[in-house]
Amino acid sequence: MPVQFNDFFPTAADLESAGAAQAALHGRAAEATRKQFHREVFVRAVVEVSNFCRENCAYCGMRRDNRTLKRFRAHHEQLAEMLLQHRPASVTDINIQAGEDPVAVREIVLPLIRSLRRETSLGISVCLGTLAPELYAELQSAGANIYIIKFEIGDAAQYEKFAAPGGYDERLRHIRLLAETGWNVSSGFIAGLPDQTLADLLGNFETARSLPLSGCSVSPFIPGNETPLSDALPAGSNWTLNSIAALRLMRPDWVIPAVSALNLMEHDGYRHGLRAGANLVTMNLTPDDVRGDYVIYKRDRFIMTEEHVLTAITAEGLTPSATGLAEFYRECAEKNSVAAIL
Ligand code: SF4
Repeated sequence: MPVQFNDFFPTAADLESAGAAQAALHGRAAEATRKQFHREVFVRAVVEVSNFCRENCAYCGMRRDNRTLKRFRAHHEQLAEMLLQHRPASVTDINIQAGEDPVAVREIVLPLIRSLRRETSLGISVCLGTLAPELYAELQSAGANIYIIKFEIGDAAQYEKFAAPGGYDERLRHIRLLAETGWNVSSGFIAGLPDQTLADLLGNFETARSLPLSGCSVSPFIPGNETPLSDALPAGSNWTLNSIAALRLMRPDWVIPAVSALNLMEHDGYRHGLRAGANLVTMNLTPDDVRGDYVIYKRDRFIMTEEHVLTAITAEGLTPSATGLAEFYRECAEKNSVAAIL
């Protein structure tokens, strides 16, 4: 698949567009997506394995200061059995996600990856926060090859203001380190944080394009229960959806997920994300008994089931990709190394 770059960089007018200008922006983004990925959408499943977190992000319900949350670590055997015996047929990749909890990485994530690698050819992504380089290496040798680590906010002062994980420079350093050591890295940012200006939103695009990424997400700010921002207004849908479309036009080759919070933002927000250039959907396979305590936003989460994601794909005239995400990245890397030799 040819990697295409163009000179697109969004303007403030693009990001706040509405009506006909917005429809034109989203139409161009959808066309760029079809040109690069045809009508295929990657289908991934997520399991959330721990809601312990040593960080204290102001926008997240799992922050360490939230003492009202019942903390859990899932059981590796239970997850392995569910994923090996009962996963939906459409799933090609598994994303293993947790708060920043190195204990869970050692006790749950590593054994789970080893079981999946031994028994299946599923692609394996992890979203586990900023960890020690030795732990990244262990995860990689166990069989994971996609690391999801959002830069969250593309400005050092705002990053600090919202107590985003670790420090801004450290976060970007880890993103670069992961890419240099062979991971496919997907990052992301939040649209519509309190007091965020259009200039701040544009700054996220500067940061994203400066990083060695394979994909990037846009998450709408949803005020989380039991956070310092619980009374703030949620993100408007235009900024979020326009950011998805602008990311697609800036980097047609990136994998851009439709995040479940799009449905908290507006009715059919998820389908709207697919229409604006997203090409990855994620169904949630976290066991019911712990899922309610994984509260990045609020307790009334919108849980994407297999039926929800497949219905959204079909309704948008798209089709689930038979090629997995990890396999796709592997094929791209092979083609790039052949092209480099020629
Ligand atoms: S956003 Fe991530 S790192 Fe920050 S508190 Fe929530 S789970 Fe922890």
